[in-house]
Amino acid sequence: MSSKAIFTVNEHGYYGNFGGSYIPEMLYPNVEELREKYLQILNSAEFQKDYNHLLRDYVGRPTPLYLANRLSEQLGANIYLKREDLCHTGAHKVNNTVGQILMAKALGKKKIIAETGAGQHGVATATVCALMGLECIVYMGEIDTQRQRPNVERMKLLGAEVRPALSGSRTLKDATNEAMRHWINNPADTHYIIGSVVGPHPYPDMVARLQAVISKEIREQLKEKTGNELPDYVVACVGGGSNAAGAFYHYLDEPSVKLVAVEAAGKGVHSGESAATTALGKPGILHGSKTILMQTEDGQVTEPYSISAGLDYPGIGPFHAHLFDSKRADFLAVTDEDAMQAGVNLSKTEGIIPAIESAHALSALQQMKFKSDDVVVVNLSGRGDKDLETYIKWGGY
Ligand SMILES: *Cc1c(COP(=O)(O)O)cnc(C)c1O
Repeated sequence: MSSKAIFTVNEHGYYGNFGGSYIPEMLYPNVEELREKYLQILNSAEFQKDYNHLLRDYVGRPTPLYLANRLSEQLGANIYLKREDLCHTGAHKVNNTVGQILMAKALGKKKIIAETGAGQHGVATATVCALMGLECIVYMGEIDTQRQRPNVERMKLLGAEVRPALSGSRTLKDATNEAMRHWINNPADTHYIIGSVVGPHPYPDMVARLQAVISKEIREQLKEKTGNELPDYVVACVGGGSNAAGAFYHYLDEPSVKLVAVEAAGKGVHSGESAATTALGKPGILHGSKTILMQTEDGQVTEPYSISAGLDYPGIGPFHAHLFDSKRADFLAVTDEDAMQAGVNLSKTEGIIPAIESAHALSALQQMKFKSDDVVVVNLSGRGDKDLETYIKWGGY
């Protein structure tokens, strides 16, 4: 566990046994173009200048690292919250879409497509397309467009076209299929912005690098506040895994820093209504990469469930599949009930209403044993405004 190279992607697009690029031949030219150019573009002075400028003046970075005093007292350790909830649009997702819109421009692409489930990634994509004046089409399962009306309206207000996916179960997986089909038919002028550390290589690595600004800042901020840039724990929730990848990235090769990934147990890991991928899943291929996913005996993807839309995904990215497989990170699971309680608790204890996704990470602290001088960083991936309806329905506050 000494070299970072063990945990980041290798030259063939693999994290240990996971990753790769399992795509239809028709998609190969698009993905290959990106693979050939992404590192050179990400590392170019021009990209870095524009990206850092937008992160600062548009997204509002650096986000604060906040010592949550009352929560620390409750838990008997020093709990720091990385405030991604204060990013423009209310979550970490915009770190990635700002980077990918600059990538699209550098590749000379004029149009953007994206898929979205609950609509959060669609909104973050529509936002940066408005910012750059690029055409934006977001595919969204028809069922999801009904369940997530406000986000559909947000995307439209931002100038994007929302195309309902009418095939299959009319949810995220069908939206992804239709976005892929669109990309195959429009390879020359279109960039596909994927919203998490999932998809064929190089997407997981590109998205992880764009989110890595989170742990870069944590190191600097902890150093300033405590004199030591290494905490004892970094804790983050995992849907596909992008906020966790960003929070873990610059700690991967620091074995003294324990990484804790938190999945959604839904109504209970073994209730049949869950999204606890590492507890329930097996290796397989999902959305273009080899990873761990929930599946039936004969390999059909199982429908996931979580009260939080952002964690309601049947797999995890290959980055996390490898962290799990190699035991570099611990994986915990938190039920709907426990997450909601942790969300209410943070609201009342610190005056911060968290996204229900982030509340899963907060709840996991209850399952952990701390020493009083432990330094624990929780990545607060988003704010709870979008979840007010769910809080109201759940009640209990
Ligand atoms: C989308 C989302 C997540 C889950 O996505 P990851 O790629 O796993 O980070 C977590 N928290 C919030 C607030 C989200 O919007």
